[in-house]
Amino acid sequence: PADIPDLSNLWMPFTANRQFKEQPRLLAKARGMYYTTVDGKQVLDGTAGLWCVNAGHGRSEIIDAISRQAAELDYAPSFQLGHSDSFRAATAVTRMMPAGMDRIFFTNSGSESVDTALKIALAYHRARGEGQRTRLIGRERGYHGVGFGGISVGGISPNRKAFSGALLPGVDHLPHTHDLSRNAHTRGQPAWGEHLADELERIVALHDASTIAAVIVEPLAGSTGVLVPPKGYLEKLRAITEKHGILLIFDEVITAFGRLGAATASEYFGVTPDLMSLAKGISNASVPAGAVAVKREVHDTILGAAANGIEFFHGYTYSAHPLATAAILATLEIYEREQLFQRARALSAKFEDAAHQLEEARHVIDVRNLGMVAGIELAPRDGAPGARAAEVFRKCFDQGIMLRYTGDILAISPPLIIEESQIEEIFGKIGAVLQATA
Ligand code: PMP
Repeated sequence: PADIPDLSNLWMPFTANRQFKEQPRLLAKARGMYYTTVDGKQVLDGTAGLWCVNAGHGRSEIIDAISRQAAELDYAPSFQLGHSDSFRAATAVTRMMPAGMDRIFFTNSGSESVDTALKIALAYHRARGEGQRTRLIGRERGYHGVGFGGISVGGISPNRKAFSGALLPGVDHLPHTHDLSRNAHTRGQPAWGEHLADELERIVALHDASTIAAVIVEPLAGSTGVLVPPKGYLEKLRAITEKHGILLIFDEVITAFGRLGAATASEYFGVTPDLMSLAKGISNASVPAGAVAVKREVHDTILGAAANGIEFFHGYTYSAHPLATAAILATLEIYEREQLFQRARALSAKFEDAAHQLEEARHVIDVRNLGMVAGIELAPRDGAPGARAAEVFRKCFDQGIMLRYTGDILAISPPLIIEESQIEEIFGKIGAVLQATA
């Protein structure tokens, strides 16, 4: 065992896992599909970190690119000067975006991408002389990061309540698309629930449509429990937003870069938004990086107005940081060279079968999946919601499998380099642990 620090005297930063005190889990290394803990334990990564290490850990191509870049040009002031890799990286990202979404704004995280996308939406309307369009519409159980914009449109009410006095005004929320009584072990997209998109018309009718700037949704809600959209739902959102001149934002921080077996959820579902927030898989999590992909028309409108004195000020010190653009270029090259999105698509049938073998497992009340992501919903323990999933998480970790859980929902979203035997191992161990859990 390497140098395990004495944790008793360490002050823990806010970012530390809430279970940290109870049971420290410190990682020392990561390669491919595995973490190694400080005490030498190997753990199979069933969640690609936090849904982000899509090409597997410790990729030498990315490490080399970052190292070379750090030695050559550590930083280029983003407001005054550029560097050519920022253009190359933008071009590489747009190659994976739906046609027409070929303008890129670089950020450093998913939260920044969300807030940036919301601001671009408002700037677009202002540039068109429709500055009154400031209302935003999110969705219950949507997760859009931790910025004030993100928690305002986000659908996690404890987060909203905690900051209720400081959130964006004029935000409504669509209902979420999860009905446990009807989901019951859905493979692919549920056939019911398309009508939930009509709720958008109801919200629009409550206000003057010309005051609404944008609708933001995760095409597939990830971190709140893998909520798969019903068939036709996203198409309807697109049609209704278009009808009323409202922009549609897809938060693809989790779904882009292969998670569903396509470059984006937009490609998977065949629905193109106006703006898309990106992060996580864009750099394989090697360095913090994010981006907003923007339709050219939206971009050009904002730029045109700037020529007439209507400025849109936005940008980060680290927008298109040279280490980030190096990492993005190397990452996207791996995705292409190894055809990882196609690999994910090919593996998804096996993944689906393995996930749904848990339908009859003890405590399981629903199984949902799409592409290379699955949610296993457990019946909550009486009077202790979340406790059962937390216990399953801990036991799986002890048996060398890393999962994620939200409430009583387990989430599985492995790196796309996973082997079939490892898919079996993950779901097999979850099944055995469930059997042995009260
Ligand atoms: N949007 C979505 C859909 C996410 O899943 C996340 C992170 N889980 C975020 C935004 C926020 O990203 P970050 O944690 O990088 O700020």
